[in-house]
Amino acid sequence: MKTYLITGGAGFIGLNFIMFMFEKYKHIKIINVDKLTYAGNLENLKKVENHPHYKFVKADICDEKAIQSLFRENDIDYVINFAAESHVDRSIKDPTVFVKTNILGTINLLNCSKTAWETINGFKKGKKFLQVSTDEVYGSLESTGYFTETSPLDPHSPYASSKASADLMVKAYFDTYKMPVNITRCSNNYGPYQFPEKLIPLMIHNCLNKKSLPIYGDGLNVRDWLYVKDHCKAIDMVVNNSKPGEVYNIGAHNEKTNIYIVKTIIQYINNNIDPTVTQKLIKYVADRKGHDRRYAIDPTKIKNRLGWKPETSFEEGINQTIKWYLENKAWLDHITNGKYQNYYQKMYRNL
Ligand code: NAD
Repeated sequence: MKTYLITGGAGFIGLNFIMFMFEKYKHIKIINVDKLTYAGNLENLKKVENHPHYKFVKADICDEKAIQSLFRENDIDYVINFAAESHVDRSIKDPTVFVKTNILGTINLLNCSKTAWETINGFKKGKKFLQVSTDEVYGSLESTGYFTETSPLDPHSPYASSKASADLMVKAYFDTYKMPVNITRCSNNYGPYQFPEKLIPLMIHNCLNKKSLPIYGDGLNVRDWLYVKDHCKAIDMVVNNSKPGEVYNIGAHNEKTNIYIVKTIIQYINNNIDPTVTQKLIKYVADRKGHDRRYAIDPTKIKNRLGWKPETSFEEGINQTIKWYLENKAWLDHITNGKYQNYYQKMYRNL
């Protein structure tokens, strides 16, 4: 039975990955290590908390002793590092914690994995370290072209720079020690359980509460949207089927402007829930500092080499996602109480 050490498994993508893996495989063990920052929520893992092969450990990925003891107590086959500070706006306000978790935390995980897996002749068979990274490490595109795995790294925000730094350290462990690693770089994910500071759940929440819908700049920045379950499938394929040292871009060719996303959400809620929710709620606000104009992924490599393809069209994915937040309004209300309110007030003082 393979043992996966999943870091950041109480966050949006990590928890979707854990649920996906337990649905797909009967004979795996998952250890979920999460510090439970504002973005980590154990409530989201109720479906798996009693699974006989699941264990949760509250720990910081920067904590050397805690991570070492996990390796001592368990024969870990795969490390998949989802844990990160993940919100660009927060990184602009306070980059330091991004350096700690995203860079130093990754190095600590690499070191602990290397110590546990290294033998005199190389590394124990079947071990793998997968770093979950982002298309933001490539910087910004003009209106044409795509990021490929060989595009130069040119990150702009403190978040993107911290992720690019971590990617380079992961690459160094392959180049220097031949440690079996992969890096995946995905586009913007959407789906259930995303923390409502991110565009889609934020806009749904504000529509439901008849609050203004803040749009940065002219609203024409483009992101390439990937349904979270399609992302989870891709990670499973990379960790299990790809050669060590490989980097894979993951994207579904769903390029949409931010304003298009917001208008889609308004229309859904207007048609199905509340006809008084209209485009009048949209409020253009000062642009984000250093705002990248366009991200777009070329996923040819993962399609050709591993046979991955996205199975969820954008229309299907966005409808399912909005429906999920509407059906889980109690979750959304609970998560947007308390600390979230203070954060929201600070970010959008004038709304
Ligand atoms: P998230 O913010 O929802 O979750 C992050 C999780 O990491 C949380 O559960 C948090 O408690 C945990 N965490 C934070 N610091 C930690 C630490 N020091 N030690 C242990 N746990 C810690 O993030 P997400 O959206 O699920 O993203 C997961 C990964 O995917 C991140 O590495 C992110 O950079 C990457 N990514 C995300 C997207 C996206 O659209 N969400 C796109 C590209 C890449």
